[in-house]
Amino acid sequence: MPPAAKLRLEHLSMTFKTPTGSFQALAPVTLSIPTGRFVSVIGPSGCGKSTIFNIVAGLLQPSDGRVFIDGIDATGTIGRVGYMLQKDLLLPWRTVLDNVILGMEIQRLPLRQARERALPLLRRYGLAGFEHLYPSALSGGMRQRAALLRTLLFDTDVILLDEPFGALDAQTKLTMQEWLLQLWGDFGKTVVFVTHDVEEAIYLSDEMHVMATRPGRIVETIPIAIQRPRHRSVTLTREFIDIKERCMQLLTAAHNAALDEAA
Ligand code: ADP
Ligand code: MG
Repeated sequence: MPPAAKLRLEHLSMTFKTPTGSFQALAPVTLSIPTGRFVSVIGPSGCGKSTIFNIVAGLLQPSDGRVFIDGIDATGTIGRVGYMLQKDLLLPWRTVLDNVILGMEIQRLPLRQARERALPLLRRYGLAGFEHLYPSALSGGMRQRAALLRTLLFDTDVILLDEPFGALDAQTKLTMQEWLLQLWGDFGKTVVFVTHDVEEAIYLSDEMHVMATRPGRIVETIPIAIQRPRHRSVTLTREFIDIKERCMQLLTAAHNAALDEAA
């Protein structure tokens, strides 16, 4: 028997009750992610990406379907995955160090031990000199580093990143992508990454799931077999451009379908 997927979504669907009736945000979505993969989910705004994440994180009960982690039903269970939103949600009254240890604190690790564990990581991952500053003193990229480290230190095997670099300028975003790949290589986590940015998704991922709206669903899964470690120049290769073109076709079709429906 093949090993169980690290994360498996089985026929997940979501219908929201609204004042005007019910709204199907998610048609049944099924996908399996093996241990240690970097997988992206890409699709137009409103196709249900954050809804999927909220369900996987146990914050939202699906209308139907199940979430399995290591083959065990984790539907509606909080705390099984690390989850980071685009808005970093760092606590303004805590220093960077004390923000980063939040997960360990929740898991009741003594404060001193938690700080001792976090300090070398802050230094190793580009936050040396920022440990004792408050988030308001940090740039957007630095805040995202802190938020991501905090998510990693929740000690879960799976992390969900919802457009973590969406608000950053282009150059910072590229730096953060390299930084994230380094962390992923070091920590060996299974990552599910939501983005609007096609190049970002291809550059980072082993596989991408392209979604469409109304109802939100996966229309195609594209494997990305580009060898690692990757260098920026892969974005100029035939292989990369072919994947990008296919992805753009799907996203344009999804976008046009949404416009037709709205008309
Ligand atoms: P995405 O993250 O892909 O932009 P979301 O998952 O946030 O999309 O939302 C998917 C759809 O579900 C959107 O049309 C959104 O308006 C709707 N939606 C999300 N949450 C709720 C809710 N609590 N009640 C009603 N509709 C919702
Ligand atoms: Mg979203």
